[in-house]
Amino acid sequence: MYKATLAALAATTVLFAGSAMAQQPVDWDKIQIKTTDLGNKTYMLEGQGGNITIAVGTDGIIMVDTQFAPLSDKIKAAIKAISPLPIKYIVNTHFHGDHTGGDANFQKDGAIVIAQDNIRLRLLAGTTNGTTGNKTAPLSGDAIPKETYTGGVKTIEVGGRKAELHHVNNAHTDGDTWVYFPDANVIATGDVMNNNHRYQQVDFANGGDIRGMIRASNDWLKLANDSTKVVVGHGPLGNKASVAAYNEMVKTARERVEKLVNEGKTEAQVVAAKPLADLDKTWAANDQAADNFVKQVYHSFSRS
Ligand SMILES: [Zn+2]
Repeated sequence: MYKATLAALAATTVLFAGSAMAQQPVDWDKIQIKTTDLGNKTYMLEGQGGNITIAVGTDGIIMVDTQFAPLSDKIKAAIKAISPLPIKYIVNTHFHGDHTGGDANFQKDGAIVIAQDNIRLRLLAGTTNGTTGNKTAPLSGDAIPKETYTGGVKTIEVGGRKAELHHVNNAHTDGDTWVYFPDANVIATGDVMNNNHRYQQVDFANGGDIRGMIRASNDWLKLANDSTKVVVGHGPLGNKASVAAYNEMVKTARERVEKLVNEGKTEAQVVAAKPLADLDKTWAANDQAADNFVKQVYHSFSRS
């Protein structure tokens, strides 16, 4: 039973990360949490699943995303090694389990998870991935964000620290939040971007749309300077140059696929046309990943 659960979680990682990782069960005992100091009492934590950002104030901590539940104790230990202060707020960048799986374990300790309201609705209802058909069961109780917002920019604060939460309508999902820590010049993108130089999943069945990924990355380019640190959903720490390269890719993908959609082509015809063949050489993990991304961009334009 436990093994089956781990296998399901591991598969979830692969699907949601859109990575080329082998689909085998994760041995949680072997996962180490790596802490990177971003300056100004701000840190990136890497383990398994979406990258975590930590901002330490004078009376508490703001955290972005929680990875998988089996890693919560290790993540808590890594945060304790940074600061003994309590985690006051946790921001969820989107509903996928490799970013929200630990929420219940942290809310039980008194942290308040804050998210765009569509995350609450999708976690409560359960979801189906449009590319893989993979189903995620409904959640309840402490696994559900205690506080939500609907749109625009929401600011949260702990002593001396501020986080700006920016909702981007329909990007990786319909509940994405990216977070800006102005005093540390750090942007946390969630899965609206990866820094593995790989196509990023557009979860079209759950409100994802390539045009939102473009809007968000346009905003980051305006906001960033040469010393901005970009904590992406998956992959190493990024910067303005990596955002610029990603922004070019999503804009090109949108233009080419939208043109074919406007010509009345079907999904199969668009995939067969291989409109991103030149990009595939450096952005696609494999042929399946290349086709999946074209399908996901295509469905951005048929999304109801
Ligand atoms: Zn995701």
